Amino acid sequence: MRYISASIVVPVVGNFLKNGVVAIDESGVVKGIYEQNDVAVLDEEKEVYEGILIPAFVNAHCHIELSHMLDKTQKGLGLPRFLSEVMKGRAADESEIMGQIALADELMWKNGIQAVGDHVNTPYSAEVKAHSKIVYHTFVEIMGLNKEDIQPRIDAARDTEFYFDANHASITPHAPYSCSKELFKAFKRAVSEDNIFSIHNQESDEENKLFRYREGGFLDFYKEMGFDAEGFKAQARNSVQSYLPHLPKNNRLILVHNTFTSLKDIDFINRQDRDVYYCICPKANLYIEGKLPKILNFIPDRAKMVLGTDSLASNDGLSILEEMKVLASHFEHLDFLQLLQWATINGARALGLEDVMGSIEVSKRPGLLLLQGMNNLRIHDRVTLQRIA
Ligand SMILES: [Zn+2]
Repeated sequence: MRYISASIVVPVVGNFLKNGVVAIDESGVVKGIYEQNDVAVLDEEKEVYEGILIPAFVNAHCHIELSHMLDKTQKGLGLPRFLSEVMKGRAADESEIMGQIALADELMWKNGIQAVGDHVNTPYSAEVKAHSKIVYHTFVEIMGLNKEDIQPRIDAARDTEFYFDANHASITPHAPYSCSKELFKAFKRAVSEDNIFSIHNQESDEENKLFRYREGGFLDFYKEMGFDAEGFKAQARNSVQSYLPHLPKNNRLILVHNTFTSLKDIDFINRQDRDVYYCICPKANLYIEGKLPKILNFIPDRAKMVLGTDSLASNDGLSILEEMKVLASHFEHLDFLQLLQWATINGARALGLEDVMGSIEVSKRPGLLLLQGMNNLRIHDRVTLQRIA
């Protein structure tokens, strides 16, 4: 048994404890949480740290199989041009791809990440995930704009899903601009209610322009890539209001990015009465579009906010702490305790992992991190992180 004490213990669920002590067994399972003067723990048994002890993070959105694309795309291209750069540039030696996946997995563990919601198109990451200390939920993306080959695409995604842990894998539409209406509808027949969806949503205003007016950068992208854009008709409403009603109603859904999601869209989503989480990937948004989501619009849904890093194709690191720093520096009224929920328990709930992680509670195995350099529970650039368990 280890008894870990820190200046402040923030369990996320429950009140924080000054000089609290967390007892964990050899496998990292929490066995007890104690006040400073609790007689159950002798002083000489304690490991004492100066700083703030928190549960490890959940990275709700990544594409680990793109880790070899660090520094391979230009910043500020906007989403359609960024996508064509990724599609043209992602081919590489299998050994290079696999090597960078392994390094990214180690990097995320070191950065205090305990679980990842990870998007794939290939089985490349299966081997690393099977042996990782990190718990991965793998989302196998499906995209397709032709009506004719919907079932073969679903079958191919099922084949890819088979490589990953069956309890932590699902198939998902990739994005509104890469899936036909018919493909969205096909998920109703293809999945059971426990299949979690994770969809790139309104990452660019070009997506809304495509759905509202059938114009904008995506039409150029389709032309360049030789995709059929015939299925898109001007709908006079934003993308999410067009595709969401086609998806099965009882499946949990993570909407990723939401950079151009309006208040009206959020109101529309709420009226659908679905189990929706909003994932924010601030550094990737700044990298691709140079813009952040309107965070204040989402604050009434604070229990549904989660954080992601996206991939190394659009980020210089895979660190939830760095994502929190960006949000804290742009939105002053977002306090640390709130952001910490987004970074831990909310992400665990979104991925169905709340029984094992996301907070420091007895019988969970959350991983423990020490934050140092905090100033009155305020997060800033110089805060550092150390994994304790
Ligand atoms: Zn993504």
